[in-house]
Amino acid sequence: MASLVALKGVSKTFDNGTLALERVDLAVTKGEFVSLLGPSGCGKSTALRILAGLLTPSDGTVEFAPGKPEIGFVFQEPTLMPWGPALTNARLPLDLKGINRGEANDRAARALKRVGLDGFEKSFPRELSGGMKMRVSIARAIAAEPELLLMDEPFAALDEMTRQTLNDDLLKLWEEDALTVVFVPVASRKRSRSRRTASARPATA
Ligand code: ADP
Ligand code: MG
Repeated sequence: MASLVALKGVSKTFDNGTLALERVDLAVTKGEFVSLLGPSGCGKSTALRILAGLLTPSDGTVEFAPGKPEIGFVFQEPTLMPWGPALTNARLPLDLKGINRGEANDRAARALKRVGLDGFEKSFPRELSGGMKMRVSIARAIAAEPELLLMDEPFAALDEMTRQTLNDDLLKLWEEDALTVVFVPVASRKRSRSRRTASARPATA
């Protein structure tokens, strides 16, 4: 099946000489949920940022399906605007696209509902728990209805139980919305002791 996005022979050397990725091949098919596993420093964030177009590879190419998919990015920290209620935060990408206020509000409210925050549209970040703030951050990433959702250790700052709940809810969202997700999970101690640990090479993860 044709991929939605693919890294082909991608290498990245930073200005200081650090080689972060070396000839990585990664094809992501529409509707897939791909996890990138590997020890800290192996280049997972670099690979995601290249997929998002936030960084350019030093070598190799990033190929998108025709019509370049809309991309949403969720970072480790929720990075919400403290002065704005949840709705304003979730609406940000729609505001940046110049979508009119009424429609943007409707779409942001729908995104908040999809992440389980119905009724919290007017709450400020300081009034929300860590898990809820992360939900707002996910709502913001999906408000523009991206085809591709990139998530870089999004639940790292949360306690284990909250993380589990958000993981489950994310999987539901992925199933319901036919999203394509590239996800970097938090490396837990349990995971790193297991026999199915990851490869240090995102290309094979
Ligand atoms: P991971 O997300 O798997 O922990 P990263 O992609 O953040 O790994 O980093 C891969 C390597 O690239 C590391 O050695 C890191 O120190 C280095 N690196 C990341 N970003 C930069 C940068 N902007 N400048 C220089 N080196 C960087
Ligand atoms: Mg990282």
